[in-house]
Amino acid sequence: MINGSKRISAPIRWAMVGGGRDSQIGYIHRSAALRDQSFVLVAGAFDIDPQRGRDFGVQLGVAPERCYADYRSLFEAEARRPDGIQAVSVATPNGTHFAITKAALEAGLHVVCEKPLCFTVQEAETLRELALARHKVVGVTYGYAGHQLIEQAREMIARGELGEIRMVHMQFAHGFHSQAVENQNAATQWRVDPRLAGPSYVLGDVGTHPLYLSEVMLPDLKIKRLMCVRQSFVKSRAPLEDNAYTLMEYEGGAMGHVWSSAVNAGSMHGQKIRVIGSRASLEWWDERPNQLSFEVQGKPAQILERGMGYLHASALLDDRIGAGHPEGLFEAWSNLYYRFAMAMEATDRNDAERLASLRYPDIDAGVEGVRWVERCVQSADDGGVWVDY
Ligand code: NAD
Repeated sequence: MINGSKRISAPIRWAMVGGGRDSQIGYIHRSAALRDQSFVLVAGAFDIDPQRGRDFGVQLGVAPERCYADYRSLFEAEARRPDGIQAVSVATPNGTHFAITKAALEAGLHVVCEKPLCFTVQEAETLRELALARHKVVGVTYGYAGHQLIEQAREMIARGELGEIRMVHMQFAHGFHSQAVENQNAATQWRVDPRLAGPSYVLGDVGTHPLYLSEVMLPDLKIKRLMCVRQSFVKSRAPLEDNAYTLMEYEGGAMGHVWSSAVNAGSMHGQKIRVIGSRASLEWWDERPNQLSFEVQGKPAQILERGMGYLHASALLDDRIGAGHPEGLFEAWSNLYYRFAMAMEATDRNDAERLASLRYPDIDAGVEGVRWVERCVQSADDGGVWVDY
């Protein structure tokens, strides 16, 4: 149970790059990082517009001299301070992640970076090597991975409660961009511009989320090959897709499927994962995150509720309120940030045992997300052919 009692010896001095006033994702980063006093926000380069970023930082309570014009001056000036930052979160458009994360690692900082981590596997491997060489944590915000029912699913699958795993159906298919809303909305505009978004739109923007959930729930399932087709139903988005279907064959013969979409008209988030075994299936949907459906063949379906004593102990570890009250995206993110902080602390004191006990989307998860997108794009652009993973 998380109840406010501290498990981090001292809050980590933390900054943000991006996540400015009007950004979509900045607030939840701050809310999650600051909630359990694991981090303290002391600096930032919050906005592409330096003055707007400074004004906003001051409003957040950051000292004016520690609200910097850009990430380079942030890292340089903070490195000169005895009380300089120890970690930074990168919440900027995709095209800047690689350069900022690389510079942060080179400056000796732990990093939390938004997904997708970068554009190419080569870049991702560079970041992994750098993080290893500098003994730094890189966390990636696949937010719902911190929800306790994802841990419950992982534990049930590990204990064989589903039998042998046969199929994994995933989707993140919302309808918010069914029309060309980017013409009026800057935060959508960069998402359909390959220079800023990278080689894909929905594959990287949404598809990687349920993909990571499957990696948590099914750590032994390895993709052998995949095929993908992608479409731009709003034509002006080409070459980037607003809808894609990916079929995956795993080592051992299990099959998987990911539907990534921003044009599923009428759908809210539509992020779901269904794991189908020889005996039973599990299904989780982010719009009803407190319920996990457990369906044993030949028996009535059961709905497992978050916070209940019948869940596995590992799932209850991150419970914050007990059963009955909803916990959702904000709590899941807080759990992740809490784990990021614990990982940073354990890394700093070379506590390998502690590190091995922590599960969070790390640099490997970041690399895997980029690899998956790269392979999907390769398959789709070659006409929807099977591509070895
Ligand atoms: P946004 O366009 O709403 O906001 C981007 C912010 O970054 C703005 O404040 C902008 O001023 C600032 N910025 C841009 N370039 C900068 C730079 N070089 N230096 C400093 N600040 C800069 O974008 P968003 O929707 O918040 O997305 C940001 C990132 O978060 C993207 O990579 C996106 O994929 C990711 N994201 C993740 C989730 C999730 O669930 N994990 C959800 C939404 C977005």
